[in-house]
Amino acid sequence: MSATDVPRSTDCGKREKRFRTVPAAAQIPFDPAAERAPVVDRPTPPSAARIARWWYENCRDDDGAPGFLFGEIGTDEPFCFRCGWLAPVADGRGWRGWNNAGGWLERAHLIDWRALRDIGEVEAANEPGNYVLLCERCHRHMPSFDVGEWADALGWVEEGDPNPLLVALRTFVSDDIHSRKNLPRGRARAERLSRRVNETLTEAFYATLLNVESDDPRPAKGP
Ligand SMILES: [Zn+2]
Repeated sequence: MSATDVPRSTDCGKREKRFRTVPAAAQIPFDPAAERAPVVDRPTPPSAARIARWWYENCRDDDGAPGFLFGEIGTDEPFCFRCGWLAPVADGRGWRGWNNAGGWLERAHLIDWRALRDIGEVEAANEPGNYVLLCERCHRHMPSFDVGEWADALGWVEEGDPNPLLVALRTFVSDDIHSRKNLPRGRARAERLSRRVNETLTEAFYATLLNVESDDPRPAKGP
């Protein structure tokens, strides 16, 4: 099924105007009575480069630039679509650079692939327009979105991270890993390190907040 074969849903709202192509997954209406299709194997998802390229070609932000609040696609710098965190991978590799970010940037479904699979629309689930590229932290926080909620899922991504200071700290660490040419080899190692960096920085961030609260100047002595 292609984007042109399916009926257009009205709940995509104004956002749809910014798109050259709206993926089929976004246009399938929710129907609780839809017949359940037999379980199928999860198909191979498109590469990160294909996903990045889809968004570059099809989506514009409010200023007409390809990308999201915290990052522009097409600058050869792979980043998390939600928080803008820059993955510690070599810049200037073009679209292939997004594939090298494997382990640092994860392919996240906008509409849960299982929900689409259950109504026999697994192909729509696997279109590049039903994926965004997220850091491990954002992917972990992402809620699950049902059929008919593609625009809501995109809205969640476009809100960005509510904790920009933490994103800035994580980008410093990412730059440091990159500048030391200390890139972990292999996806599993990258994922482990990514998780450890997030946990350490989150702890440090909250510890700082507590210190700021306890660093209040002492009340002036009375006369
Ligand atoms: Zn992120």
